[in-house]
Amino acid sequence: MKSIQMVDLKGQYNEIKDEVNTSIQEVLETTAFVNGPKVHEFQKNLKQYLGVKHVIPCANGTDALQIAMMGLGLQPGDEVITADFTFAATVEVIALLQLTPVLVDVNEDDFNISIEAIKKAITPKTKAIVPVHLFGQCANMEAIMELAKEHNLYVIEDNAQAIGASYTYSNGTKAKAGTIGNVGATSFFPSKNLGCYGDGGAIFTNDDDLAHTIRGIVNHGMYERYHHDVVGVNSRLDSIQAAVLNAKLPNLDTYNKKRQAAAKKYTAAFEGIENIITPKLSNGCTEICDTCDCHVFHQYTLRVNSTKRDGLVKHLNENSIPCGVYYPIPLHKQKAYADERYNEADFVVTNQLVQEVIALPMHTELDDEQIAHITSTIINYINE
Ligand SMILES: *Cc1c(COP(=O)(O)O)cnc(C)c1O
Repeated sequence: MKSIQMVDLKGQYNEIKDEVNTSIQEVLETTAFVNGPKVHEFQKNLKQYLGVKHVIPCANGTDALQIAMMGLGLQPGDEVITADFTFAATVEVIALLQLTPVLVDVNEDDFNISIEAIKKAITPKTKAIVPVHLFGQCANMEAIMELAKEHNLYVIEDNAQAIGASYTYSNGTKAKAGTIGNVGATSFFPSKNLGCYGDGGAIFTNDDDLAHTIRGIVNHGMYERYHHDVVGVNSRLDSIQAAVLNAKLPNLDTYNKKRQAAAKKYTAAFEGIENIITPKLSNGCTEICDTCDCHVFHQYTLRVNSTKRDGLVKHLNENSIPCGVYYPIPLHKQKAYADERYNEADFVVTNQLVQEVIALPMHTELDDEQIAHITSTIINYINE
């Protein structure tokens, strides 16, 4: 059996070596390292893929979130509601801009931000909601957009983990994750579903004015050369990363299908096993299938009994099976984001999930033998 990795970037590279190498070579030959034709080409290709009016590439996913919030003109003291159970980048940029983060609980079934918790957290100072499409599946965007409309709030989608996923509205129409709110942000960190070979990110929007504002912000607040109209940042996707992304984008759907196929095999193997809860699909989606892209499995996350979770992590590592705990500490308990405003009774689900979750190896190169080995090792341990 091939050794098992959490993310197999080498195996994936071997499959697309020629395309990637040629694409990078073109950048080297033209020496257009920053804002070169490759970046424009990628922007155009991604726009088409997502069916969105504007894609603005930037340096990483954290910047993408920050710039989206700057573009919307959010001001210090504005309250921004986001999930307690996510990667820290989401809340980090809110705090960095001196906005007031309002962390709220998530759903037990799909790990995404709870609509009831958002409703409870809205105050006259609330200006925005940041749903995170955690582990590859959209938050309940229809309900979130309704709340936003009712309370006049912006919606910024943190789509770092769900690029290529689709959201289906109750009337059956579909939209790509990240293109539903006022603005979406994504990351091309190497391990993401569409990863480059370094850092990268992008912002999406259908709003022409916002796109214009954001294009200036990413480039030192310049709308005309050496005229600085607003305080901006330097956040660019470099051409070599765009070259990699251009070579990989045509494969994104295939990559996501491979992740779904692996997820389906995992779930089948755990069926009927007590004390293992497999990932649930939501938003009207009931099963992982080839035609359905409601979940693109950035992570395949199980819930196991909290008394067994840490032991299982250790057992898997001892058996050369990597795994991850995303995320081990609720954000409201992190030193940087703890606040007297928070009440433990409002974080029942997150407090429980952090003790139960375990993410299994998930990438495009997993084979049946590896999946069988991973699942049997887990089942044996849980049944012990
Ligand atoms: C990866 C990630 C980010 C940040 O992306 P970077 O490119 O690493 O800055 C933000 N939010 C979530 C949910 C992520 O998973």
